[in-house]
Amino acid sequence: MLRLLRDHGPASRADLARLSGLSKATVGTIVTGLQARGALAEAAATATAAAGRGRPSVPVAIDGAALVGLGIEVNVDYTAVTALDLAGRERWFEEVAHAGAPLSPQQVGDLARRHVVRLEEQGSEVLGLTVAVPGLVDREAGRVVRAPNLGWTDVDLPALLHQGLSPAVAVAVDNDANCAARAESLRGVAAGTRDLVYLTGTVGLGAGVVSRGAVLRGSRGFAGEVGHLRVGSAGRCGCGRTGCWEALAGQRALAAASGLEVAPGEDPVAFASRVAALPDAPRRLRPVCEAMSRGVLALTLGLDPAVVVLGGSFVPLGAVLVPALEEALNGAFTGGAAVALSTLGLHAASVGAALDALDDVYAGRRGL
Ligand SMILES: [Zn+2]
Repeated sequence: MLRLLRDHGPASRADLARLSGLSKATVGTIVTGLQARGALAEAAATATAAAGRGRPSVPVAIDGAALVGLGIEVNVDYTAVTALDLAGRERWFEEVAHAGAPLSPQQVGDLARRHVVRLEEQGSEVLGLTVAVPGLVDREAGRVVRAPNLGWTDVDLPALLHQGLSPAVAVAVDNDANCAARAESLRGVAAGTRDLVYLTGTVGLGAGVVSRGAVLRGSRGFAGEVGHLRVGSAGRCGCGRTGCWEALAGQRALAAASGLEVAPGEDPVAFASRVAALPDAPRRLRPVCEAMSRGVLALTLGLDPAVVVLGGSFVPLGAVLVPALEEALNGAFTGGAAVALSTLGLHAASVGAALDALDDVYAGRRGL
């Protein structure tokens, strides 16, 4: 019923019966229960239904202002937190930059608990919590297999997240770029696009692929780790290899190309904005553009997306990057994909994580 209302907008009980194939009596019982739970509310009555004949048809709509999904993005030098209510409205956003060492898994658990408690004190009920991390995530097992930029190896994050939380709060962990790609396909610059590649630049570089409307995960959930695709012959990568895309277009490459240093506590977008403001930015960024062109071309040939969305630190570099990528893609054997700049900023991964946290409800895997 919630899924129907999300996808079709407000509808009368009669419409819901027709759309679901359930009897009007059953729909009435479900709607009454969801209303009592605060998930649905009656919308303004419309005059369309049988004026003068019996009861007017009062449409119901998703409300759920007090039922929220919490998404937390953990990155090397910042965390972003988004709470979305059941209707998808943003109830909270916070980005905190932190200098020094990345958060430990235990610190992420503490952070999550603080936010759950705060939301509960504000009268919200947290239905689910998804944490997005830059690294390899075994989603089924709920383990962060490897997040080199955070210094995490084989972490059972859900176990830490569950400590001190009600078992009713569903917890999950996912790759940050997968979360961001989802947010981009649903509400970003490429909203409604069923086939897109999202590339995020932070300290590292990752991709999320949406294919036919669903996140492409691969056999173990590791799809999208393109930051370690070899696109050059120089540049030492954090993974120990040379010539990785991440080493040639991530934050360290931007620092090397620009001669600028990342300030303590400066997030990757702020740093990239300073690089983009250099008068000779186009010249200095030439090697970065070259690495990006090689990588994006490989992805486009392999996946045939309609749109390549650039996010994170690539956004402020758009004036230089987009024309370079368009030129590379226009020469592609299969023809070009569009290139777009994300409008969600560092929001994207935490928004996608919050949407993921609400997924169990919408997929019918858990009741309210
Ligand atoms: Zn690498």
